Amino acid sequence: MSARGPVAARPFEIVVGIETHVELATGSKMFCGCSARWFGAPPNSLTCPVCLGLPGALPVPNRRAIELGITAGLALHCEVPAGTKFDRKNYMYPDLPKGYQISQFDLPLSVNGWVDIPAEGGGTKRVRIIRAHLEEDTGKLLHGQGHALVDFNRSGTPLLEVVSAPDMSSAAEAVAYAETVRETLIYAGVSEFRLEEGAARFDTNVSIRFREGSETRWPPQSEVKNLNSLRAVEQAIAHESQRLWEDWQAGGEIRTRKAKITVGWSPDTGRTFLQRRKEEAEDYRYFPEPDLVTYAPAREMVGALRTALPEMPAERRARLAKQYGLSDYDARILVSDPALAAYFEKVVGEGGADAKAAANWITGPILGALRENAIRPADIRIWPLQLAGLLGLIASGQISTTIARDVFAEMWASGKDATTIVDEKGLRQVSDETAIGQVVDEVIAAETKAVADYRGGNARALEALFGKVMGKTKGKADPRVVRRLLTDRLTAGG
Ligand code: ZN
Ligand code: MN
Repeated sequence: MSARGPVAARPFEIVVGIETHVELATGSKMFCGCSARWFGAPPNSLTCPVCLGLPGALPVPNRRAIELGITAGLALHCEVPAGTKFDRKNYMYPDLPKGYQISQFDLPLSVNGWVDIPAEGGGTKRVRIIRAHLEEDTGKLLHGQGHALVDFNRSGTPLLEVVSAPDMSSAAEAVAYAETVRETLIYAGVSEFRLEEGAARFDTNVSIRFREGSETRWPPQSEVKNLNSLRAVEQAIAHESQRLWEDWQAGGEIRTRKAKITVGWSPDTGRTFLQRRKEEAEDYRYFPEPDLVTYAPAREMVGALRTALPEMPAERRARLAKQYGLSDYDARILVSDPALAAYFEKVVGEGGADAKAAANWITGPILGALRENAIRPADIRIWPLQLAGLLGLIASGQISTTIARDVFAEMWASGKDATTIVDEKGLRQVSDETAIGQVVDEVIAAETKAVADYRGGNARALEALFGKVMGKTKGKADPRVVRRLLTDRLTAGG
């Protein structure tokens, strides 16, 4: 990310806290039996009286959602309080059919957690998590010309809200935090964290703090709502903090404002826009949901969920670094997605490939191809053992890295094994010294100027001759043999 570079000298500190809303990976909704797999379904096809908020309909909590919510809290190092309950958060909006959202107010499912994020300049920084509570997602508005349509398929989908302390001090740290929460929840198996589908969003609270004369100024924050990518998080924080600073310098409204404002983010203009001032409203009149009872999670169940937690990203990174000698950078990229990390371990484990080579090919060509085709790591088109096969051909000197790139592209397109492609196209590297020696001799005889230059002390002339030999052999000559034969012949003969 661009903001990960050296920190530019800023005349103010940035203070950021993040609220993460993320749907849990349940089959059905939070309080009814409708399918929670709403993405792509025909509008209003996954609804019932409960999630449409019809009068008299009664909510029944989804046990799986509660288990996933507790698991998420445990993965984020939270405590699970003795008792928890649901509350009504009252507000009117067309995508909220009941006129309130069932959420949790004073007794959330999880409290007092933390995550460690990579700190700028090395090491880690601990970000505190204040709470994580369960609620239900809203419907979706689709705005047209002069009208709006509402789709209630998403209404009532289990939603986890994770609230951090204002512990981040830059856009880059905010992105690192968002990435850490994302990968933690994916690893914990509680959510697929589908940002691109609107099934996960970030609200970021941004403020600035600075000295003015003998005073410390810390004006009210801006809440940037509904950021749906890590890039948006980064850009919105950079923009909004700078905007607050400039507004202060210009004697703008921030100097007299008493409460926070809510703003939206427009990726097209790269700017925030005012949504509402908090002085005006924001009294949700929370009260306990009368249709649901308070709930005391059994300690045995909490213990069982804790035991069932799989290896978390930080642990896996440390293990990969130790077990395979990977760099921190490679480990971080590979672990960013469990499918990618599993893929790597198969290529090296079952496939017997060299760990460093496997890491290079996965973080390079494989990730490139995934990005280009908008495919998730779980759907990589080349099997781990096929990639191991390709790496084996390179390691044994049967094909060059350059040719391997072409073979890789062909594997991706056709699904064929590397060996099959290499045999079909006759790409196997020529290591036979007699054959290569013949070409080397031809080139030396023809390129009299380069030969003279080299013998006259211009070492770079060797590269020109090397290039000629590789060209004549269509890239199939073993470069190590070419180099050795060239230098031998040039330094020996007169
Ligand atoms: Zn329903
Ligand atoms: Mn919420």
